[in-house]
Amino acid sequence: MTVQYQTAGIHHITAFVRDAQANVDFYAGVLGLRLVKKTINFDAPEVYHLYFGDQQGSPGTIITFFPWPNSRKGRVGGGQVGVTTYVVPAGSFSFWADRLQQFGIAYEQTTRFGETFLQFEDRDGLKLEIVEREAGAPSQWAFGGVPADKAIKGFGGAILYSTAPERTADLLEHVMGLRKVGQEGLYARYQSTADIGNIIDLPVNPVAAGVGGAGTVHHIAWRAVDDAEHARWRTHVEQSGFHPTPIVDRQYFNALYFREAGGILFEIATDPPGFARDEEPDALGEKLMLPEWFEPKREIIESNLTPITVRELEGNQ
Ligand code: ZN
Repeated sequence: MTVQYQTAGIHHITAFVRDAQANVDFYAGVLGLRLVKKTINFDAPEVYHLYFGDQQGSPGTIITFFPWPNSRKGRVGGGQVGVTTYVVPAGSFSFWADRLQQFGIAYEQTTRFGETFLQFEDRDGLKLEIVEREAGAPSQWAFGGVPADKAIKGFGGAILYSTAPERTADLLEHVMGLRKVGQEGLYARYQSTADIGNIIDLPVNPVAAGVGGAGTVHHIAWRAVDDAEHARWRTHVEQSGFHPTPIVDRQYFNALYFREAGGILFEIATDPPGFARDEEPDALGEKLMLPEWFEPKREIIESNLTPITVRELEGNQ
């Protein structure tokens, strides 16, 4: 019997930016997300690793950043997540258009598959969009002028820019277990089983390769329900002809990575244990959290990081 593997959808998306405080001001201050974890890049402890999501950092809501001061700006293109899609409650579109305007953020309105999207960029040029959908639990987090009933529920999904879209399509359908639900003009649409982080739009023509750096996505992570399923995913990915890394402990989830044929770095991450592993749920993101293997070096690590604060912003226009 063939086992049908199906990821529930996006677990998190990780991108590069330059300035940590500007990053906090945009994702918490403007978009109203919660900073759910302030830690360091485990592979480069001189930089932060910041996680933003809903009230608890649920899978499907988490965007994470490595702020590298003075890093080169990247170019969005093939082999990357091209656009990260956020989903907001039905009826809140005009609230978000007004809010972007209030903060001096230029946006364009565009349509795909009968849906209207507000497309804009963050301060480093990372491409984002907002769409209204009924699906997805309402956020319970209100911050900085974004009430919970207008707040971002999580990812709607993403637009994947592939240098080899037929092969990426094959991977999405036959390895990751998404279902093709539409094709319209230049896009094919795929859907996974969760009610957020579940809609992937794929340009059907190859996209010229991008360049990694500030303002680009580094990888997209997909959900595994637990460690046992995660181990099976690793075997499945390997048997499907990819080259997954060993399973790595990322403190808040376990991870494995592989690069797909269209150039995009995929991760598979476990839903547990989540961000309440080392902080109380009502204090998430407040302290610099270090895994125990870095604790002996806390003093030097902290002295290398510029302090950041989550703060309410005034609109600047
Ligand atoms: Zn990741």
